[in-house]
Amino acid sequence: MKDNICYNGAPTTTAGSQLLGQHASSYDADVISALKECDCVFLGKTNMDEFGMGSTTETAAAGPTSNPWNLSHVPGGSSGGSAAAVASQLCTAALGSDTGGSIRQPAAFCGVVGLKPTYGAVSRHGLLAYSSSFDTVGPIAQTVADVSCIFDAIRADRNGRVQRDASLRGSGGFKPTFQQASDLVLKPLKGKRFAVIVEAIEEGISAEVRNSFFESIKQIEELGGTVDVVSCATFRLGLPAYYIIASSEASSNLARYDGIQMGSTSDDAGDSCNSRRRFMLGEEVRRRILMGTYVLSSGYSDEYYTRAKCAQNGVHNELMGYLQDYDALLTPATPDVAYKMGDKISNPLQMYVGDLLTVNVNLAGLPAVVVRSGLSHVEGGVLPVGLQFIGKHFGEAQLLEMAHVFEATKNISLPEVDVFSWL
Ligand code: GLN
Repeated sequence: MKDNICYNGAPTTTAGSQLLGQHASSYDADVISALKECDCVFLGKTNMDEFGMGSTTETAAAGPTSNPWNLSHVPGGSSGGSAAAVASQLCTAALGSDTGGSIRQPAAFCGVVGLKPTYGAVSRHGLLAYSSSFDTVGPIAQTVADVSCIFDAIRADRNGRVQRDASLRGSGGFKPTFQQASDLVLKPLKGKRFAVIVEAIEEGISAEVRNSFFESIKQIEELGGTVDVVSCATFRLGLPAYYIIASSEASSNLARYDGIQMGSTSDDAGDSCNSRRRFMLGEEVRRRILMGTYVLSSGYSDEYYTRAKCAQNGVHNELMGYLQDYDALLTPATPDVAYKMGDKISNPLQMYVGDLLTVNVNLAGLPAVVVRSGLSHVEGGVLPVGLQFIGKHFGEAQLLEMAHVFEATKNISLPEVDVFSWL
């Protein structure tokens, strides 16, 4: 479980922050109660970027996590601990949270499968809020079938359960069917229509990622799917809009951690709330709070926040329009493979650009799944590349069925990792 999900019984829910270093949850998140009902065995909490803000797990108060494919590279973030735990086969599946890509990007960097469910399909009760209108809890696992099994257990409308999140909506059931690769009929994707968003493969995408993406498209066509290329004029507006809206919501959500109502303090931290927050919160979180407060302030909110909400509407309408005609939209999961540790941490803008291909899905509240689609050879070994399928609202069953066919015919195995050598 990512350490921003409340679990009653373990002495953590730190959200990767020193400010919550002493915190122990007194209740279970709805997703945890759901998994307990299904007799799930919990092994532990996983490392994450502080309050989910980051793309490498390097902003974690506990220190960074390594990528199991290559220990000098990052595992992605913010759910980097969950993805690394699955990739190194420490667990069958892990929970992550996705506000702007934090399940899908680490899944791609670690060569595992990550599902960001439709906003409103899984309860957020007991998830420490970062940006409430985007936050979603979802599974990371080694295969599409395992991700599907965990999603089925945590989806809010299973067995008419009552959950404590006012944004939940019913999905009308979830019954995907998966077949072994050997049982797949000839052309198993026949009749399925896919669209490639052209803006997602233009500027800023590495040659390895682009080539691997083109190979995946060829494979989907060989499997019987039809693939068109479409243009999405609002696609590149999503990134700035996301960072404005997410920082605004974060500045409000994090106001509660003032060392008085919530959050610990220390003797060195001073007497005022501000000095305590300055002392206990990391640089990235303070940057987001300042950015959020600024773009919401009177005189600036029309220029930034209101325009960002307009851009969000544009992205939402455009993607929804295409999903009336197509079964899924396709993009690479990330502009590049996992970076070397330390490469981006001192340049926030470069770090933010890495979220280009994932944030629009959150702006539109859509479901998306990332599967491993290839391997890229870097000095000292290989690193995985991921493919993203974006589906219709509450269309998780169809989305996972298509991703399963791709995965079953691709068949790339996880690295051999001797986890005990790390101890
Ligand atoms: N990297 C993005 C951010 O820092 C996404 C994080 C997330 O999804 N929690 O905001």
